[in-house]
Amino acid sequence: MTAMETNTKYIFVTGGVTSSLGKGIIASSLAKLLQASGYSVTIQKLDPYLNVDPGTLNPYEHGECYVTEDGAETDLDLGHYERFLNIHTTQLNNVTTGRIYQSVINKERRGDYLGKTVQVVPHITDEIKRCIQLVGTKHRFDVVITEVGGTVGDIESLPYIEAIRQLRYQLGSANSVVIHLTLVPYLAAAGELKTKPTQHSVKALLENGVQPDILVLRTEKTLNSEIRKKVALFCNVDSNAVIQSVDVNTIYDVPIKMSEEKLDRITLHKLNLPQNKVAELYQWKEFLNKVKNPRDEVTVALVGKYTQLPDAYKSISESFVHAGAANECKVIVKTINSERLNKDNVNQFLGEVNGILVAPGFGNRGIEGKIIACKYARENKIPYLGLCLGMQIAVIEFARNVLGIKDATSTEFDPKTKNPVIDIMEEQKKIRDMGGTMRLGAYPCKLEKKSLAANIYKQTKISERHRHRYEFNNIYMEQFAGAGMIATGINEISGLVEIMEIPSHQWFVGVQFHPEYKSTVLNPHPLFVGFVKAAMEMKNEKH
Ligand code: GLN
Repeated sequence: MTAMETNTKYIFVTGGVTSSLGKGIIASSLAKLLQASGYSVTIQKLDPYLNVDPGTLNPYEHGECYVTEDGAETDLDLGHYERFLNIHTTQLNNVTTGRIYQSVINKERRGDYLGKTVQVVPHITDEIKRCIQLVGTKHRFDVVITEVGGTVGDIESLPYIEAIRQLRYQLGSANSVVIHLTLVPYLAAAGELKTKPTQHSVKALLENGVQPDILVLRTEKTLNSEIRKKVALFCNVDSNAVIQSVDVNTIYDVPIKMSEEKLDRITLHKLNLPQNKVAELYQWKEFLNKVKNPRDEVTVALVGKYTQLPDAYKSISESFVHAGAANECKVIVKTINSERLNKDNVNQFLGEVNGILVAPGFGNRGIEGKIIACKYARENKIPYLGLCLGMQIAVIEFARNVLGIKDATSTEFDPKTKNPVIDIMEEQKKIRDMGGTMRLGAYPCKLEKKSLAANIYKQTKISERHRHRYEFNNIYMEQFAGAGMIATGINEISGLVEIMEIPSHQWFVGVQFHPEYKSTVLNPHPLFVGFVKAAMEMKNEKH
């Protein structure tokens, strides 16, 4: 079935003037409002780079790699979509130019094009259109929002803009809307807000045959009606469709702001959809209220090696916002570069924190600092949460400093080690390709009844998302248990250890999975909620 036969409506979100204007947050906020009005909505991200997915990218390139239930390694914007909408996204929700070309070239090799010359138009654009429509038709959403990465005018986003132009023509004007997000800079010297960059970026879109219906203008200062009218006149949009997006303190304010600006109503109107229900967002507002009015405050250390770019640990920092609100507590996240940590300065870095989280990661760099941080948490009874690599670090630290296996390590760091307490998974041994080959996505895990984990989750069967190649080496299981580090979560099918705990410690949990990918505004993740609670207790005990 094609989208033309279904009633799915399409919203395209493009960006102009600069990158980093927050298209993902605007798309998520609009989606939230439409969802609260009773529509089923999903969001898709089109990324113009040639990597097939961001899985092989250094987090410093585009921030963290987000993993979906179905094991897709995706852009971090999908994390925002899930956190705002409380839905699961899939591989279909993130498309890159690399994936589009890979699919077209595969078809060409199979002979699907019957001797034709394969070209950007129509073959690449057709494949883009297919991917956009597939996400809507497969799960029958009322509305699909497609966010185009990059900035209008970039060479690499041209095929996407052309695909949108064609789709709009084919879908008919009442079935799609283009929202263009731009920047209205304030020039302090002139004391003025400037609209020219917006006009130019709309022109760039028009040159490619796309007329935006709605403009969202990012601005530091409120826009008066004169400016709105001016932009409307020069960009051919209705003046009520010129929306301001003023800088706010938390991204979770944006849906409220967009509702005040009537972005949802204007969009629904243009799509010929009734607004059956007003988007009240009761729970959302309650959450916001807690974010803004905390009763307590804790500081947790986030020990990792990608500390220069906050986006590298996006899901973790957002999980702390959710868990903080659940505890009515402000969580100050102190990021610590593990490469700078050593025995002599650890007290200086971690002496005042109320919880220590060791972040996921790959490769040798910064490992010893993470082990020192973990030891500090274990010995000083500071709540510890180890995520993926953070669990493996806890295992290595325990082996070295409690079991006395001085050379214990992971085969990731020393392939020839005599004591691989963390070892490569059997099925990973033969894999040579780096892209999309890890153990990815959701797997079930069975929890030990009396464990801290079971107490936190309030159930014994859970499912969590993964992204790893190495695992706890079960040969050492009894030795660890004898000394007080227990595997409390296991994958029953493979026997893979998913959770390690130290029951004699107040709160010490290492997990092989990534709870941060599943925390949302409406469903804060229990592990983060429990960790923040433990940090609060520790702080209040001390004082
Ligand atoms: N490098 C480790 C592994 O591959 C941990 C991965 C992670 O932290 N995501 O198993």
